[in-house]
Amino acid sequence: MESNGHGANALGAVDACVVGGGPAGAVIAARLAQLGADVVLVERSAFPRAHLGESLSPGVLSLLETIGARRDVEEGGFLPVRSVLTNWDGTLGERVDAGEQGLLVDRGRFDALLVRRARAMGVRVLQPAFVAERVRRESEWLLSIQAAQATTTLRARILVDATGRSAWLPGKRRRTAPRTLALYAYWRGRSLPDRPRIEAGGTAWYWGVPLPDGSYNTLVFVDGDSLRDGTYPSVQARFRALLARSGLMEYCVDAELSGSVRAADATPYLDEESVTSVSLKVGDSALVIDPLSSSGVQKAIQSALAGAIVVNTLLRRPDAADVAMQFYRENLSCASHRHRGWAASHYATVQARTDSPFWTDRAAGAVERDEAPTGSLAARIASNEPVALCPRLEIVSVPRLGAEYVEVGPALRHPGLETPVGYLGGQELAPLVHDIRTGMTPLQVVHTWSPRVPLKSGIAIIGWLLRHGILVSYPGSPSQDACPTA
Ligand SMILES: Cc1cc2nc3c(=O)[nH]c(=O)nc-3n(C[C@H](O)[C@H](O)[C@H](O)COP(=O)(O)OP(=O)(O)OC[C@H]3O[C@@H](n4cnc5c(N)ncnc54)[C@H](O)[C@@H]3O)c2cc1C
Repeated sequence: MESNGHGANALGAVDACVVGGGPAGAVIAARLAQLGADVVLVERSAFPRAHLGESLSPGVLSLLETIGARRDVEEGGFLPVRSVLTNWDGTLGERVDAGEQGLLVDRGRFDALLVRRARAMGVRVLQPAFVAERVRRESEWLLSIQAAQATTTLRARILVDATGRSAWLPGKRRRTAPRTLALYAYWRGRSLPDRPRIEAGGTAWYWGVPLPDGSYNTLVFVDGDSLRDGTYPSVQARFRALLARSGLMEYCVDAELSGSVRAADATPYLDEESVTSVSLKVGDSALVIDPLSSSGVQKAIQSALAGAIVVNTLLRRPDAADVAMQFYRENLSCASHRHRGWAASHYATVQARTDSPFWTDRAAGAVERDEAPTGSLAARIASNEPVALCPRLEIVSVPRLGAEYVEVGPALRHPGLETPVGYLGGQELAPLVHDIRTGMTPLQVVHTWSPRVPLKSGIAIIGWLLRHGILVSYPGSPSQDACPTA
């Protein structure tokens, strides 16, 4: 670092400056450094600091393998999720997480661990610090960064906004679901629950999260406009009254509030200006999904890993910049759409037994869930019925993620799919489809793919092809299987 003699330092020129050191910022910074970029990360808070999003979905650990952080997290003293208590349909049940890959974390420590990982990979971290001034000059940014008592100047080719919901870079945020507010508070006591619990209420849903330090976070998700209805004198009174209607604090005889009742915006949105040739938004800055899935952190990390490949393409293959930007926009838009449909279908199951606008509004746009085959589909896979590819299937070239760059490659286009699909569960689909011969049974196809594709993945892929009408019964296709129309 050079000093200009006036208490200001110059960090010089870097490939990328990442602003925000949550999971999205730390992961994109680490991944870019891994790809050979010179990266500075600016985080305004000193860590550890508290943050919502303490229940990590099972996909997080495997994503962290890419930047070598999985082991650190596994050894971080966080709590594995063995099962979740659910009361979504009026009866109390238990959802067992056989793989125990979900985690309950202290976000202060979890986020600090990822920033430490980024630093170990060569990222220069300025923390606590903030960008006091930013000026765009043709194809780079001039940044003035305030850290401790010193001001640092920096030239960055790409600016990455990873500041979460704070809308640091201007954009075009489109709300994708009704306004939702989370009222939440932490409890202490000796008889607190030791398992997460999710529950549907009349005009709210509830989420209870036991944390590694022995405290218990209780969250009540309400309509964003409901606070104005004047039913309760305060947010605290509303929170306590609603919580008392749930089973979250059942058997908690000595629970005491630790800190105050707080409110946080939990409304899902998509920023339609997520990428330019000199800037990129990742994590909550670009896309917020419904908190019902408890996978905001996973989604943030996914966008960071994809975003790193996009930035690498912008930096080193300017000729492919348009393709990379198109890919990123479409990728986020599809993810937003998919999550919205998934969440709506879950709200719809409650809406079916209540007239409350809370559930009706959120159930709009419900779609069938894309799950592992069950029932008749499973029977179809196991049957000896011969199948064939639907004649409306096309293999088209589209932008998709390569190991280091966004590249154009083959993908499946079919009226049953919203967008062309190149990969499913990490498997490239075009070569698999190429191996399908008319008249094979579904299981013969799966065996043809083996050992390239493990049996379980093969069955999931064949189920997906059948469900979307890409694979149809033979002879007589497509009428017998009603190949969907566009
Ligand atoms: C009520 C609620 C419950 C949730 N529950 C879950 C859950 O159970 N599981 C789950 O996976 N997700 C959950 N989420 C979502 C999850 O919190 C987010 O998706 C996730 O934290 C997004 O990560 P991020 O890195 O994009 O942003 P953040 O985690 O918000 O990180 C942004 C970082 O940027 C820093 N920053 C902000 N502005 C600046 C600036 N100007 N300069 C420098 N630094 C800045 C902040 O200090 C912060 O460290 C929940 C969200 C809500 C609202």
